[in-house]
Amino acid sequence: MEQVSGKAGNFEVKIKKRPRYVTGQCSLDDSLADQLTSERPDDVNLGMGATKALYYPHDMAYPPLHMLDRDALSESDVQTLTEVAPPGAIDLAMTDEDVELDVGAIIVATGWRPYDATKLDNLGFGRYENVITNVMMERLADPRGPTGGKIVRPSDGANAVNLAFVQCAGSRDENHLPYCSAVCCMASLKQARYLRESNEDARATVFYIDIRTIGRLEKFYYNLLEDTNVSFVKGKVAKITENPESKDLILEVEDTIAGHKPEQRFDMVVLATGIVPNTADVKIPFELEYDEYGFIDGATDVEGIYAAGCAKHPCDVSRATKESTAAALKAIQCINRG
Ligand code: SF4
Repeated sequence: MEQVSGKAGNFEVKIKKRPRYVTGQCSLDDSLADQLTSERPDDVNLGMGATKALYYPHDMAYPPLHMLDRDALSESDVQTLTEVAPPGAIDLAMTDEDVELDVGAIIVATGWRPYDATKLDNLGFGRYENVITNVMMERLADPRGPTGGKIVRPSDGANAVNLAFVQCAGSRDENHLPYCSAVCCMASLKQARYLRESNEDARATVFYIDIRTIGRLEKFYYNLLEDTNVSFVKGKVAKITENPESKDLILEVEDTIAGHKPEQRFDMVVLATGIVPNTADVKIPFELEYDEYGFIDGATDVEGIYAAGCAKHPCDVSRATKESTAAALKAIQCINRG
């Protein structure tokens, strides 16, 4: 979205549509992509693995069309596509397209991205292969993810058996995100359950400041407390170092309840990184109020523009869905009034 003007009931929106180089005139399948050699980092799997330069964006993509990464495509693959793609399926001369829309109301549901864990220098993400983030863990546990659902160490592909979760990685920290990201306690508890269900010998240790579970999710936490292979240690992890030979990780942390500082060795660590709104750096091109972290402040003071979910505050899917429904109803009412 490049420009918004007008008012409730009568907004004009200018959108820049980038080329996908796939026309949609005939259906494609992965057999065409398989004939290419050019690859690109797999965005959906957060760079764990690669896709072909011609790729299907993700399982729920809409419109359901492949895309072509023109920058990643080699000259020999340009030749291959010219020879083997169905006539009219690929258009390498496609350029940016300007789209203008007249709309009555706008819903800002721009979502979130994980906090950049490389900024947490003491926790070693980006330096130590077996330190991953919670969103990477989610992809590892997905049967359609890069490992087919196996929770394995990036360094050697071995099953992760002794795993640590580091809570509030960046969140509730004045040097990073001062707020609570709302979902990462539940995400780690769920991922600890993934681990335990995938391997009965696996052990998980959750290092936390507080465990924050809301509503009925508290019961999920209590159930997990009964699992003797899952431990909870109240303490903020100060530092992670790596054994260079085994690639195991050593956590420096004080157990504030037991009052001692054990050396804790793990074969993989998951950082429960927090939520940053996508509007932190890319603003909606219209005069809207944001708080100091980039969340849209409240429901926006502008009639006809309604924010929902993580555009407004950190929240889980259930709350985001309810807020989106409410925003859609407000938008319909706004249009009907106009
Ligand atoms: Fe920390 Fe839990 Fe809040 Fe996430 S949800 S910031 S892990 S207290």
